[in-house]
Amino acid sequence: MAVKFVYDFEEGNRDMKYLLGGKGANLAEMTRMGLPVPHGFTVTCEACNAYRSAGRQFPDGMLEEVAEHLEQLERGMGRRLGDPGDPLLVSVRSGAPFSMPGMMDSVLNLGLNDQSVEGLTKQTGSERFAWDSYRRLLQMYGRTVMGVEGHRFEEALEHAKEAKGVRNDVELDAGDLRRLVEEFKAIIAADTGREFPQDPREQLHLGIEAVFGSWDNRRAVDYRRKNKIDDSLGTAVNIQAMVFGNKGEDSGTGVAFTRNPANGDPHPYGDYLVNAQGEDVVSGIRNTMKLEEMGGVQPRAWEELQGHLGTLEGHYRDMCDVEFTVEQGKLWLLQTRVGKRTAFAEWIMAHDMHNEGLIDLDTALLRLDANRLEELFKKVIASGAGAEPIATGLNASPGAAVGKAVFSADDAQAWATRGEPVILVRRETTPDDYHGMIRSQGVLTSAGGTNSHAAVVARGEGIPAVCGADAIRVDRQARRFSVDGTTVAEGDWVTIDGFTGRVYAGQLGLADSPIERARSGDPEARKEKIWQAYERFMARADEVRRLKVRANADTPGQSGNAIERGAEGIGLCRTEHMFLGEERVAAVRRMIFADSAAEEQAAYDVLLPLQRDDFVGIFQAMDAKPVTVRLLDPPLHEFLPDQVELAVAVALAKERGRSEVEVGGDEAMALDEAEQMLAKVNDLHEANPMLGLRGVRLGIFKPGLYAMQVRAICEAAAKVKAEGGDPVVEIMIPLAATREELAQVREELEPVARQTLEEKGQEVAVLWGTMIELPRAALVAGEIAEVAEFFSFGTNDLTQTAFGFSRDDIGKFLGLYEERKLVPANPFVTVDQPGVGRLMRIAAEEGRQTRPTLKLGICGEHGGDPDSVRFCHTLGLDYVSCSPFRVPTARLAAGQAALGEATTASK
Ligand code: ADP
Ligand code: MG
Ligand code: MG
Repeated sequence: MAVKFVYDFEEGNRDMKYLLGGKGANLAEMTRMGLPVPHGFTVTCEACNAYRSAGRQFPDGMLEEVAEHLEQLERGMGRRLGDPGDPLLVSVRSGAPFSMPGMMDSVLNLGLNDQSVEGLTKQTGSERFAWDSYRRLLQMYGRTVMGVEGHRFEEALEHAKEAKGVRNDVELDAGDLRRLVEEFKAIIAADTGREFPQDPREQLHLGIEAVFGSWDNRRAVDYRRKNKIDDSLGTAVNIQAMVFGNKGEDSGTGVAFTRNPANGDPHPYGDYLVNAQGEDVVSGIRNTMKLEEMGGVQPRAWEELQGHLGTLEGHYRDMCDVEFTVEQGKLWLLQTRVGKRTAFAEWIMAHDMHNEGLIDLDTALLRLDANRLEELFKKVIASGAGAEPIATGLNASPGAAVGKAVFSADDAQAWATRGEPVILVRRETTPDDYHGMIRSQGVLTSAGGTNSHAAVVARGEGIPAVCGADAIRVDRQARRFSVDGTTVAEGDWVTIDGFTGRVYAGQLGLADSPIERARSGDPEARKEKIWQAYERFMARADEVRRLKVRANADTPGQSGNAIERGAEGIGLCRTEHMFLGEERVAAVRRMIFADSAAEEQAAYDVLLPLQRDDFVGIFQAMDAKPVTVRLLDPPLHEFLPDQVELAVAVALAKERGRSEVEVGGDEAMALDEAEQMLAKVNDLHEANPMLGLRGVRLGIFKPGLYAMQVRAICEAAAKVKAEGGDPVVEIMIPLAATREELAQVREELEPVARQTLEEKGQEVAVLWGTMIELPRAALVAGEIAEVAEFFSFGTNDLTQTAFGFSRDDIGKFLGLYEERKLVPANPFVTVDQPGVGRLMRIAAEEGRQTRPTLKLGICGEHGGDPDSVRFCHTLGLDYVSCSPFRVPTARLAAGQAALGEATTASK
């Protein structure tokens, strides 16, 4: 059987979007529903793909099918395309399976030519209307099908208006438009060397080709790459009888949402423009009126529209957006789809629609985008909402932020340390800016996209960011930026809105999100619908999820924060920061330099009580919830001055005959001490520190170190227990590659734990486990499980070592890799399932074979990424652990994973 390349709107339905594109499938659905849709037909995505793979050749039979459907359309409408006496006009509309703003624009009024324009005059009795329609066709067709630059036409139109001394194109009369048509035709001929095709069928065929070809234009390709849309889908073409909103005061065109997409309000929302055709609404050339004001000018059509909006919402069981046109009082629907909305509106709508009985609770829950949950917690601009932005960039990381402008990461850090709120302003950021970024209220860049370093880090850290505000010029040296005559110097207030990408000079007032206010007990905020929605859906997610959710937290403060957000334990308590601070670093260095066991022990004696107190605070905060403490992981030279800096400082001091050496700006050291230090630093220097003396290797190399940490943990646990608390202790040994490493270290440490607890007279169960973060460990997990009671997947290191990618260096090429689709996504954000995921699966399965009670968790950044959480659910892990502010995201994603599984299973 021959492939069918063309479907009438009457033949399709909404489930056919991969064949008919989203627009075509929904036009068919509305037609089936009996809504007033102008007749038409759709050329399929399959035809597009056949055209593309045949080297830009229409597939056999396609044009014949188009001709048949066109005749059918002509019969139905009682008019023929381009008939010089009484022409049928059509639109040619692109429509891919996913909405793609990068695609070709639609062409309206196709079928007009030098003869049929006269026929249209007769048909409508309006010469002006006919010539306006023709000039619009030439303009759209010239630009989108023939490739003339749009400004050529716009300039000609401007001149015509100037010449006549009018401001608005509705003030041009038939004669003016007739002259413009001639001018537009001349522009097309001059720019392309071809005449505008007078044959309507040729117009149509070239139009279809242009839509097919637009699938591969630069903008469309870039858009798909950014939004991870498959290149092989292709686009459909819709050919539809024209209706006219530009036939006078009783006509118009508009867009309507069944509910407010910004705040979720359950009332229709949108814009209406009297006496206008399609594009005019979006192009903003004339002022639109609010949708509800349409009732004042078109009461019947408005009534009817409201009815249809209700019908559509009931049918799609979701918020829809609709394009419509009123032609001399008669309403036509031209497009619908399930509409985009803010995260806030998404939650409100899900909550309302469930209350209204439109959808059940779990359907509502599954609709929430876990990736955007964090947006609900962000601050919003409260006062000065009417202020004029000085620039607009990309809304790279949600939330509003206000602070004083600073122009380097070091300044951001220094100002923040003084307690000044800052906005870090840069052309672009690099990994070297990280320390300043995390101390900033917000980040503003003039270059870079939504996947730039600034954007990725800001989102990861939950910092609002506006990126690529390309109108601003950042002068780093002079510490200021300027835009359109406004200059913002260091220390001046700036406000950014990461929801909208807007940038304001000055200090606008911010408000906490209602959810944050409700959480901190504000009774008014608790009455707000968004809080009720949040509570309801999170409770349901918690009820159905199988994964537990823990947090990565290193301090009592972070632990408390994590619990507030629903964490059920700590999956990763790093201990390295417990070695920072002047007193501690001094002791660590003494340990590193120790010549004798006694000296080393003396250093541990200083560190022990400090560490113990750290743990006491954490065990208290996490009462009765498990705390996984990771023994020291980073290489020791991280506690020493930088090698190059120190070498330079020593050399300088010697050259100048000084006895003191300045290291890193604030540290001063005696020259001989500095030389000794340098010798040690040289000694410890590693070519590949990430693969060097770190993790369990440290434990083997410096046995006293881990023993001290274990003693501190157990003393803390005993103390908390003695005070009536309930510490749940899990000790985690990082970076093991072999069973033997773990076995030996555990053999040394377990007696320390037992002895400490005995000394203190407390019984506390201690679980011993390891991180699985090296491919070898994953592959021999069956053996490792003999000596580990739990595994925690350290997916950051596992991803680094599985790919051989250094996370700190990948920024230089990851963009290119994503662009060329060499990786499906950033593997440091979403677990790479075929590779890293496979290692995890092997480790989980083989580990559990050895030890059925083996506890399994994940503690890399991936623990807070919804797609990765879903994967962990399917692996059957016991928990995920993520940064405290991602805990709600992980809870929601885990609930959705469980529900999604139930839904698929019941199908
Ligand atoms: P986009 O995908 O860019 O929204 P559309 O195909 O929806 O492009 O068309 C652009 C504009 O033209 C829309 O406002 C639409 O309503 C209008 N339009 C498209 N086809 C017709 C038609 N047959 N009659 C009247 N207006 C139309
Ligand atoms: Mg549209
Ligand atoms: Mg690691």
